Amino acid sequence: MKQVTDYFGCLVFNDKVMKSKLSSDVYKKLKKTINDGKELDISVANSVALAMKDWAIENGATHYTHWFQPMTGTTAEKHDSFISPDSEGGIIMEFKGKELIKGEPDASSFPSGGLRATCEARGYTAWDPTSYAFIRDKCLCIPTAFCSYDGQALDKKTPLLRSMQALNIQALRILKLFGLDNVTSIKTTVGPEQEYFLVDKDVYDKRKDLIYTGRTLFGAMPPKGQELDDHYFGSIKPRVQEFMNDLNAELWKLGILAKTEHNEVAPAQHELAPIFTTTNIAADHNQITMDVMQKIAKKHNLVCLLHEKPFKGVNGSGKHNNWSISTNTGINLLEPGDTPAENAQFLLFLVSVIKAVDEYQDLLRISVASAGNDFRLGANEAPPAIISIFLGSDLQAVIDSIETGEPLKANGKTFLKIGADVLPPLPQDTTDRNRTSPFAFTGNKFEFRAVGSSESISCSNIMLNTAVAEELKQFADRLEKASDFNTELHNLIKETIIHHKRIIFNGNGYDDKWIEEAKHRGLLNLKSTPEALPYYLDDKNVKLFTSHKVYSTDEINARYEIAQEHYSKVVNIEALTCLNMLNKDYLPAISAYTKELSNSIIIKKNVGLDTSYESESLTKINTGLNEAYKVKLVLEDKINVAKEIEDYATRSMYYKEEVLPLMEKARSIIDAIEPVMDRKAWPVPTYGDLLYKV
Ligand code: ADP
Ligand code: MG
Repeated sequence: MKQVTDYFGCLVFNDKVMKSKLSSDVYKKLKKTINDGKELDISVANSVALAMKDWAIENGATHYTHWFQPMTGTTAEKHDSFISPDSEGGIIMEFKGKELIKGEPDASSFPSGGLRATCEARGYTAWDPTSYAFIRDKCLCIPTAFCSYDGQALDKKTPLLRSMQALNIQALRILKLFGLDNVTSIKTTVGPEQEYFLVDKDVYDKRKDLIYTGRTLFGAMPPKGQELDDHYFGSIKPRVQEFMNDLNAELWKLGILAKTEHNEVAPAQHELAPIFTTTNIAADHNQITMDVMQKIAKKHNLVCLLHEKPFKGVNGSGKHNNWSISTNTGINLLEPGDTPAENAQFLLFLVSVIKAVDEYQDLLRISVASAGNDFRLGANEAPPAIISIFLGSDLQAVIDSIETGEPLKANGKTFLKIGADVLPPLPQDTTDRNRTSPFAFTGNKFEFRAVGSSESISCSNIMLNTAVAEELKQFADRLEKASDFNTELHNLIKETIIHHKRIIFNGNGYDDKWIEEAKHRGLLNLKSTPEALPYYLDDKNVKLFTSHKVYSTDEINARYEIAQEHYSKVVNIEALTCLNMLNKDYLPAISAYTKELSNSIIIKKNVGLDTSYESESLTKINTGLNEAYKVKLVLEDKINVAKEIEDYATRSMYYKEEVLPLMEKARSIIDAIEPVMDRKAWPVPTYGDLLYKV
């Protein structure tokens, strides 16, 4: 059997391949483009394209595609073969530089939020050379950005790259002040931990709710849920292990650093974590990972569910976005250092994140807002919808001492003044215990835990990068003018702590008292997507994005509109699926069963037998049946009303306030009937079948 070291990255046009396939001149020019973001001239592009094509064909590829990430949150590809006719009725395999750097997919059906009318110019895709090309299913995939002809971003990659650039500009200003002149660029790094469920495909195929919506709209809890905590980190079942082995092998071939795999809290729930990498690459890799997971699952007759809340009553799935900033010289700027100067720098970056999260809590909340994630946030299984920061007691003590001016004594060290004293050691392993915080400092990085499992990580990182860039800009503006750098620095950090400490909360985020306390502190508690989205358009947010050139006003409006529409569409599909299952599965099956019970009662009464079981069951089930029928009629009406609402903010709010609760009502009635009905008469697989069959 081949070793992992032999096949890791074998389907990637990575640096090693580039070195071996390109002339040293072309290689150097390409590297310059990758490192400095300079445009690639066409002769270099032609040479790169030729080498890429030859390499791809050697590795079995017949097609190529510009692989991009439209605002749907998924990825898109349109395959073109390399073939080109020759003069003798045969073909040659061809791929030109211009096809590598720019594509023009007729992508008019992707949501553009009004940025581009369908009848107008098509969008174009442009190569992101910082993310390696790779081969999947005989197709050379070229990671690209997707824009309209007048340069408006129609995707998630373009603004992510812009936000990384915005942060780069401002962080370099700060590092210059600390004398780090040798640093020429910074980048953010991300390691997303991905949760998912695996269910048996035969069982899945019988559940229309899973097929159409990705979550169960009905289903009573089986006698056993997650209360024994026996699944978390438990021994992995052979079928799941085989899936994980195949998944790892495929990801490794694609150069994805799949590292950790384990069972999660809920039955049938698992997690995969890669080793962190540069943010845009991490985002690409996470999209590929989600796609590969679903395809590999099918090979094992499994289905991988990425929905945030596939099952009521057990934990849903999230994605922890571990985020940090590092320099091209290899320094992690969120890692406390060993010297007073390093610590001062660390504290400045730390408070920039604290200020960013406080001032742009709404944007972070929006970045994880979706119909699916609304079921998780604040449901005592994931962080609450209130955004706050966990620092841990060691770092909190440092922050307190800066604020109060009281010297901090720990482990034989005294910390009094920023830039003069060394911080007491902050042990990494004690910082990570509080899992109830949405935004936790974990020793040398922040972990944003509110991201939903199916969501692209781009949006959260766009918000985070841009917000931190803004704070660093304000800091740099002030510090560059300072006559006494260290005094100004100390004052700046202290003031920032005083003004923004309300966002820091080290307690239990699941506690109801925190909701009260957060309200008292003036923190936002945006419980649902329709409540959160309007904040997108706040003046301060528009100013943030436009001033750092991450989004134009039109691009923000487009994203707002698409998110609102998407929410309404998702809930509408769920409501229609709910009706479909009531009409075609539940109501007929329950009605047939009441007939069966009625017949039994008549027959048994005829021979003078006691019918308490049948009679009592019948009354209960028949009452439920008619209640469910009534709810169904109202639900039908409400769906019709919703569809007519023109304003999308009003419409999404209507779906949330009027439609979702009715679906929940229908569910609770059906779920109450399920346990008292004959197993054989139940029309769909149960939670027990879904959660325990694999
Ligand atoms: P857990 O949160 O389960 O305790 P770890 O602390 O091991 O897990 O790490 C979680 C994720 O954080 C991994 O994907 C890891 O690669 C990533 N990570 C570690 N250091 C950094 C960093 N400097 N920047 C971004 N991500 C990081
Ligand atoms: Mg984690």
